[in-house]
Amino acid sequence: MTTTGHPIPEIDPQRLAVVRKRYAEEAQKRLRPEGLAQFLPLKNAREERLRSLSEDPWVDHSALNARPSPITLNATYKFFVLGAGFGGLVYAVRLIDSGLATPDEIRLVDAAGGFGGTWYWNRYPGLHCDVESYMYLPLLEETGYVPKQKYAAGAEIREHAERIAEHWGLTNKALFRTDVKSAEWNEKTELWTVNITEHRGPHAAPIDYEIRAQYVYLAAGVLTRPQVPRIPGLSSFKGEMFHTARWNYEVSGGSQSDQRLTGLRNKRVAVIGTAATAIGVIPEIAKYAKELYVFQRTPAYVKPRNQRVTDVEEFKREVAYKKGWQSERQKNWNRHLTNSVIPGTKNLVGDGWTDMPAYSAILGSPSHGVIDASPKNLEQHATNFHTLDLPHMEAIRSRVDELVKDPDTAAKLKPWYPSWCKRPTFSDTYLSLFNSQHVHLVDTNGQGVSSATSKGLVVDDTEYPVDIIVFSTGFQAPNARLGSPAARTGVTIVGRNRLNLDDKWVGNGAATLHGYATSQFPNLFFSGTAQATITGNNIWMLSLIARHIVYIISTSERRIESGKRAIIEVTKEAEETHTREILKRAPYFSAIAGCTPGYFNAYGEAASVTDPDEKKKRARGSTWSEGTLSFLEYTGKWRDDDTLEGLKVTPAK
Ligand code: FAD
Ligand code: NDP
Repeated sequence: MTTTGHPIPEIDPQRLAVVRKRYAEEAQKRLRPEGLAQFLPLKNAREERLRSLSEDPWVDHSALNARPSPITLNATYKFFVLGAGFGGLVYAVRLIDSGLATPDEIRLVDAAGGFGGTWYWNRYPGLHCDVESYMYLPLLEETGYVPKQKYAAGAEIREHAERIAEHWGLTNKALFRTDVKSAEWNEKTELWTVNITEHRGPHAAPIDYEIRAQYVYLAAGVLTRPQVPRIPGLSSFKGEMFHTARWNYEVSGGSQSDQRLTGLRNKRVAVIGTAATAIGVIPEIAKYAKELYVFQRTPAYVKPRNQRVTDVEEFKREVAYKKGWQSERQKNWNRHLTNSVIPGTKNLVGDGWTDMPAYSAILGSPSHGVIDASPKNLEQHATNFHTLDLPHMEAIRSRVDELVKDPDTAAKLKPWYPSWCKRPTFSDTYLSLFNSQHVHLVDTNGQGVSSATSKGLVVDDTEYPVDIIVFSTGFQAPNARLGSPAARTGVTIVGRNRLNLDDKWVGNGAATLHGYATSQFPNLFFSGTAQATITGNNIWMLSLIARHIVYIISTSERRIESGKRAIIEVTKEAEETHTREILKRAPYFSAIAGCTPGYFNAYGEAASVTDPDEKKKRARGSTWSEGTLSFLEYTGKWRDDDTLEGLKVTPAK
């Protein structure tokens, strides 16, 4: 199939050089020697006041305590799934639909008090998906559900997770409020021994369970542990504070279904952070707060959202017009993001993601080939991407001037980094809010909030007295500890020969077959992007992962004599072969190295690494550089061979 990368525009090299110099200066200004340690994951906070900010505000302990437990002590389950977000759900659905499992053979376990993962925890006002809901919400064809708006609200997305659980008989197969602590491969039973603790609320003792499982899937997500910056003096603050991922409606007033934040009337509210979450929540706070102070370290780049209510007839006629429409839509959209549009094809989604081909610097693209790592080549590669990106980022900066009246405020709201350094944000109201008398931009010139006092926040020598602090400061970076699946889940995972997964991953770098399984850890699978593919639409990616893993398990089971359990293990050679393919392509991602710090580049951690061996170790964790559709072709070819090459499949003794 012929695809074409977007033509590289003609741009005056001097103009480009000036912008690149500014990008580099702005990134440099933000680099902090403490790197990822500048943040405190709330769950690990020593102080009770901060630790309590990570507690579950939504859980209904009495309802859950009244339910019969889906887990029995010492029982054996065929499929154990860590995580009841969309990753866990789409995997369970695939297991059922493929005939591999009945719902009763599956157990999902989650620290949350219900289904939805991200969409369970995050309920802040203004929350919506940022990719079109028709493509983001999974299994729309199977459930017949029509999203109410082009960008569904958070509650609607959570309800869809519950709908899926209900539709596939999984509602009573999930144990909630439960931490998975360890999973250990037992050579004798040839099963995983999993230790979990169910927290039953303040008036009931927790229950520890040890169970066994034939297959374990880690669907633990990536943005699950809310964090705050380590701001000196924070605990002395006398007002209210909370994190957006645990929104406190008792303080703000309203609820997820009634977003009238009447508790903020007459209040001075501070929001720290100006990324994707902040862009959604700030306009809602501004409707009610007496004064709103927005503490900015790095401006987001904000594109128009163009939200609209779904016209059901139009949806049926133009979106869901044939079987397989959702997959077609996801792929069509992905071609734009990976700069590989087929000439003459219609842009089905036509949103703000599809006019930024240079974002493919982080997602991969088949249009740039495999990049040779010579310095000259890498410089040309980066120049190509910056050239491709410049008109887009200039339009974004001009939009700020169009919408923000005060030139000084407008200047501070302009993002000086290329599009691929941060996730884009979308809002029709955020920028113009800064024309309101009661909304104050406190720009910290890339340095962040200096300290806190009993009365408020301090930047440089100025104290800003406030009543409420809202942390919109994100989550523990998924690439901490090189993105080890064990570290991401907080689970101690021990495979054959007592090998600890975290040690294996951090010691030598990633080594997997296709990103989802690794040698010495039989029958263990995980979701992730390292050595696999990354897409802008995370749920689509989770669905692709589920399909691949379920193919592996079902094909393996067919090769085993009936009545026996299958033991599936990646061979050492296969993971090294796959790693070589990843390493070969890793130089493509070199343009990310100079990015402004953020969770995409582990707050600049990677750029500070100079040791060649350490660099190579990190490069092993790259994603597939030629984009999702190319990765699907690569894994699809492997599946078509139908030989399970690189997997050792044996019957349990
Ligand atoms: P999650 O939804 O994070 O679910 C993982 C679950 O695992 C969590 O509930 C967690 O409690 C549980 N868990 C983890 N470790 C343990 C453990 N040790 N024991 C027990 N339970 C554990 N992506 C998009 O593509 N589009 C969007 O519009 C979008 N919007 C987002 C908005 C917000 C506010 C955030 C934070 C993320 C957003 N994302 C978006 C990314 C989003 O996380 C994914 O789209 C997707 O929902 C992830 O699903 P998941 O099942 O992989 O992980
Ligand atoms: P992020 O990690 O993207 O942003 C954290 C924000 O806090 C940044 O603006 C950061 O600034 C700022 N910050 C950190 N430390 C300080 C400090 N000391 N002083 C001042 N500001 C500080 O978290 P989000 O929750 O916004 O988003 C995480 C991801 O979740 C997104 O990338 C997206 O994938 C997803 N998401 C999607 C949404 C959607 O619309 N559907 C909505 C929300 C999230 P700096 O940039 O300088 O580090």
